[in-house]
Amino acid sequence: MPGFELFGDKERKEVQDVMDSGVLMRYGFDAMRNGHWKTKELETGLSERMQSKYTHAVSSGTAALTVALASAGVGAGDEVIMPTFTFVASFESILALGAIPILVDIDDTLTLNPKAVEKAITSKTKVVMPVHMCGSMADLDALKSICDKHGLLLLEDACQAIGGTYNGKPLGSIGDLGCFSFDYVKTITCGEGGAIITDNKEYYENAHMYSDHGHDHIGNNRGAEAHPFLGYNFRISEMNAAVGVAQLARLDEFLTIQKRNYSILREALSSIPEVVFRTVPDGGEENYSFLNFFLPNEDIAQKVHHALSGAGVDGCFYWYNNNWHYYKKWEHLTQMKSLGKLPKDVIESLPDYSKVDFSESDQWMSRNISCLIKLGWSEEEVTERAAKMVEAIKTVL
Ligand SMILES: *Cc1c(COP(=O)(O)O)cnc(C)c1O
Repeated sequence: MPGFELFGDKERKEVQDVMDSGVLMRYGFDAMRNGHWKTKELETGLSERMQSKYTHAVSSGTAALTVALASAGVGAGDEVIMPTFTFVASFESILALGAIPILVDIDDTLTLNPKAVEKAITSKTKVVMPVHMCGSMADLDALKSICDKHGLLLLEDACQAIGGTYNGKPLGSIGDLGCFSFDYVKTITCGEGGAIITDNKEYYENAHMYSDHGHDHIGNNRGAEAHPFLGYNFRISEMNAAVGVAQLARLDEFLTIQKRNYSILREALSSIPEVVFRTVPDGGEENYSFLNFFLPNEDIAQKVHHALSGAGVDGCFYWYNNNWHYYKKWEHLTQMKSLGKLPKDVIESLPDYSKVDFSESDQWMSRNISCLIKLGWSEEEVTERAAKMVEAIKTVL
């Protein structure tokens, strides 16, 4: 997955343009910037590549999620449905607005289970936030019809699945809003960065203002701009955006390499009847950033995970007991360990997750192993890796 593996002259050239002018900010300084608007260029490129009317780039994927929610008017006490398997950024962005993260089971897609989503809807629900984990997507048709039926927004977290598609459309562009991360370990990177895509003009206008202290961005004198509502600072710098411009131009090249490497590994593992691959919803195509598979039970999965690392196969994750990606280890959330006092709505309404039954999620996650697909591997190296994986898995079975 990581774009940092293939980093070089193209990225250097884009950054050099910014260094030459010294304009590190995305707004203003028109006369000094030698015509370089790297953030705007990144936004235009993303809108085109992601078939979306509007893109707003921000400082991180977490910022993108926060700004996306804020732009749609999500605030204190609103409930946002999110999966038990995701990165902590999901609930961080929700809590940042005083809204309530409602955790919901995943299924064999490793993303939100639509039936569990429908059960979790209350009069306070505003948003359903599927997270396209490890390169593949939620059942977006099912989620969309649930959202339409209940008047909810669909916000896709496509941070780990950029370039994947669903019914031919880029992931992130199917919901009302979509978010990407360009942190250092994502498929394409800016060092730190993120973006929101949408076809909704109002959300876009809200997003660019909210992420820049409420600046309305009208006219060309920043100091004289109006501030129609309260905002914050989630701006991306031109240096980061410049790296993103170069990396976005290479996205399809990266996807091709990922697909080749993924396919070699998958083909090899297909020879083992006990290995079952994660379900990809009909009409979906992964971005091939991870190869995900289930083993018959928790015990075998743990042993296989151990055997893989013992055989020198690095980059395979057993998320079930991971500190950052699965609800079981999120005691800072479940015990509400915050530095300062949390908003009243959160204290009163956050479910007691120590008592909620997520055995459906556990059932899938305890059997799952996810292997990161690297860009830097040669075909020979992947073939060798595939053989090692098959051998390691067979020693356990
Ligand atoms: C990386 C990631 C984020 C957060 O992105 P940052 O740029 O690191 O803030 C959010 N959601 C998912 C699924 C991610 O993998």
